[in-house]
Amino acid sequence: MGYDYLVVGAGLFGAAFARQMTDAGKKVLVIEKRNHIAGNVYTEEIEGIQVHRYGAHIFHTSDTEIWNYVNRFAEFNRYTNSPVANYHGNLYSLPFNMYTFNRMWGVTSPEEAKTIISHQRKEAGITEPRNLEEQAISLVGTDIYEILIKGYTEKQWGRPCTELPAFIIRRLPVRFTFDNNYFNDRYQGIPMGGYTKMVANMLEGIEVRLEEDYLQNKQMWDASAQKVVYTGPVDAYFHNCFGPLSYRSIRFETEVLDTPNFQGNAVFNYTDRETPYTRIIEHKWFEFGTQPQTVISREYSLEACPGAEPYYPVNDETNNTLYQKYRELALKEPKTLFGGRLGEYRYYDMDKVLHSALELAKKEITAEET
Ligand code: FAD
Ligand code: UDP
Repeated sequence: MGYDYLVVGAGLFGAAFARQMTDAGKKVLVIEKRNHIAGNVYTEEIEGIQVHRYGAHIFHTSDTEIWNYVNRFAEFNRYTNSPVANYHGNLYSLPFNMYTFNRMWGVTSPEEAKTIISHQRKEAGITEPRNLEEQAISLVGTDIYEILIKGYTEKQWGRPCTELPAFIIRRLPVRFTFDNNYFNDRYQGIPMGGYTKMVANMLEGIEVRLEEDYLQNKQMWDASAQKVVYTGPVDAYFHNCFGPLSYRSIRFETEVLDTPNFQGNAVFNYTDRETPYTRIIEHKWFEFGTQPQTVISREYSLEACPGAEPYYPVNDETNNTLYQKYRELALKEPKTLFGGRLGEYRYYDMDKVLHSALELAKKEITAEET
């Protein structure tokens, strides 16, 4: 029992929890099964460009405490995400805003755009949206649903929009102004020099062991600490005893190109059904790069299976019900706490993951004091 806490996973949740408990005077060990820290926010330098190895990560939050927290470990630039949608070669601004409506229908005023959407909503006969399709049509009408949402969503989630929860599409703003900012949050940016450097700063002075899979040697690891914080998939922890939870995975195809500018924007979404990938990321634009070359990644969405990393929990009814069964087991674990996107099976953004890690740390510290 050499450690107060064993933290399983060196992603954002694990790193923030480990930082807080270390600062509170606890002895913490972090283990990570990959050969690097930072979890899915990991960035690596290729040709002088910070490449987001596990998908594009834009930090955004309205939580001042969280913004101040991350700024302790990195300096953030003023990057604002404004993806472009490509539908069969036609380009549309995202998120849905007056530029999108103008391109779609030729309208120039918010009033005209609202009239078209309201007409399309009425024609579709939706009053209480029960799934992603109905929610999307009710927010932006059938044209935008067909051109910018249906194909992309069905590629990304591998399920019909009628079987997906409505909340997924409510992540995107709909604006009747000329504003291409993908997020409504008060703060936004990219840590200059990459997320890996930021997480390394969070973990400074804390013992981290890489390429150690907790589940391969659970008993030994459990014996090393008073308490365990586990941020891996909750179903794997319990040997999938109720059956596996569904996750979506991504295959990344990354290329270095001998051109300074491939697509002129960090994020291009391919919203038609026929293009096999969902997005092309051109990494240099996250940091306004001036390198002579460029690095792009195509993202192909797939169902997670052995060998494919789980990235997105599929929070539909079936999986949420199954998760509740794992959650009940998790609550009964005598010395293990579960956290993060995989440990809590939640479609958490980075700021929410950090908030949850800081809250858990506060709870642990308070419990200790009383
Ligand atoms: P992770 O980063 O997954 O960390 C968990 C760690 O635990 C991993 O490193 C894993 O290897 C390790 N682990 C698992 N099992 C074991 C084991 N048995 N033993 C040892 N180690 C183990 N959020 C935003 O706010 N903005 C974005 O733009 C954004 N874009 C995203 C794009 C993609 C493609 C994805 C998938 C997510 C995106 N997110 C974004 C969400 C963001 O990635 C998560 O909120 C955050 O990374 C979750 O941190 P975490 O620590 O919970 O999980
Ligand atoms: N979405 C879409 N078309 C787009 C972009 C997003 O239909 O061009 C939908 C899709 O269902 C996606 C959801 O909106 O899952 C949320 O998008 P977001 O960009 O937040 O997804 P993430 O960052 O999780 O990949």
